[in-house]
Amino acid sequence: MPSELPISELTNRMPQSGIREIFDAAQTYDDLADLSIGEPDFATPEPIASAVSDAIGTGVSSYTATVGEIGLRTDLSSKLESQNGINTDPESEVIVTPGAMGALFTALQVLCGPGDEVVVPEPYWPNYHGHIASIGAELVTLPTTPEDGFVPEPEELDEAVTENTAAVLLNTPSNPTGAVISPQRLEALGHMAAENGIWIIADETYEDLVYDGSTHHSLASDPERFEHTVTIHSFSKAYAMTGWRVGYASAPERVIDAMRVLQEHTVSSIAQPAQVAAQAALDNREIITEIRDAFERRRETILSRLQPIDGIDPGEPTGAFYVFADVSDHTMDSHSFVERLLSEAHVASVPGSVFGKAGEGHIRLSYATDLETIETAMDRLERLLA
Ligand code: PMP
Repeated sequence: MPSELPISELTNRMPQSGIREIFDAAQTYDDLADLSIGEPDFATPEPIASAVSDAIGTGVSSYTATVGEIGLRTDLSSKLESQNGINTDPESEVIVTPGAMGALFTALQVLCGPGDEVVVPEPYWPNYHGHIASIGAELVTLPTTPEDGFVPEPEELDEAVTENTAAVLLNTPSNPTGAVISPQRLEALGHMAAENGIWIIADETYEDLVYDGSTHHSLASDPERFEHTVTIHSFSKAYAMTGWRVGYASAPERVIDAMRVLQEHTVSSIAQPAQVAAQAALDNREIITEIRDAFERRRETILSRLQPIDGIDPGEPTGAFYVFADVSDHTMDSHSFVERLLSEAHVASVPGSVFGKAGEGHIRLSYATDLETIETAMDRLERLLA
């Protein structure tokens, strides 16, 4: 008998998260200035937290409909219409999921199968790789450059598509680059996807975090595009609710219905108190303005500190809470740059290579942390490179 019983081949194929590796190494420094984390440093705002504690006091602790409470879906549908211009039937075209992550995973399972290809502009959030690998599909990269603002051209999408392509995954605003795809470019990409007969997965997790005059656009606001698009949103980032694990997807009925079946067999339903939290967030949407404004101040600070540093080009990220800084004047090896920044200056960041080859020569700096930490990190980076 073998001493170790096997675990699945699929598990062995799953990529390891490069972000986690840096995070673990960083924990050894007491005076760490941490710009590696993609998570707001705020606690969940009071109106949300108190709505949940009141609800728990009254015994809110049950399974719900697999797709989520109808009251919540109705309000999500109204939000989708007023904010995103997406028209949905709350009964059949919206599903509440365990974070945007859960929505992405289930959507990919519904739209793709083993051997299918999913086109993803690179640099990309590494979890996409894990999601796509775990269903036996193939991630096909669409490399982008700082010169084109990290946004692909429609013709490049056209070239990347093969007979095996099932979907293209568009993330705007982007983690890691902070790029926001303009409405015109998004529509051109959507048109190209339609011409090629492939699905669009629109990851709009950071939709509320846009700055400097840029606007967020939802492709599915065009009823023609809606038919071929799964749009994914999250409560995590703009409401500081990462740990509540609530997101949602909107799509045509047959897609949502298939997602419901999968979700029924995996998570059953989203924790009822977490759905109360999401409902309270929607009832207190003004919270977003405060959080966004705080991020905007941090963004201005980090950009104004990075711009004068020799050999660092922060570019002009106008969304999410990341700067994808070009450090290629120092080295193309972003991993060694990040290691040096950590071991010599005790500043944590993420190597661009973690987000795919097109990320090389860059580092991702998250400004989802307080201004003091940002200033400290910038002082140390300046000294290191002086
Ligand atoms: N998409 C992107 C691009 C993200 O960066 C993240 C979280 N880091 C997610 C989706 C998942 O968010 P959630 O917490 O809603 O699962």
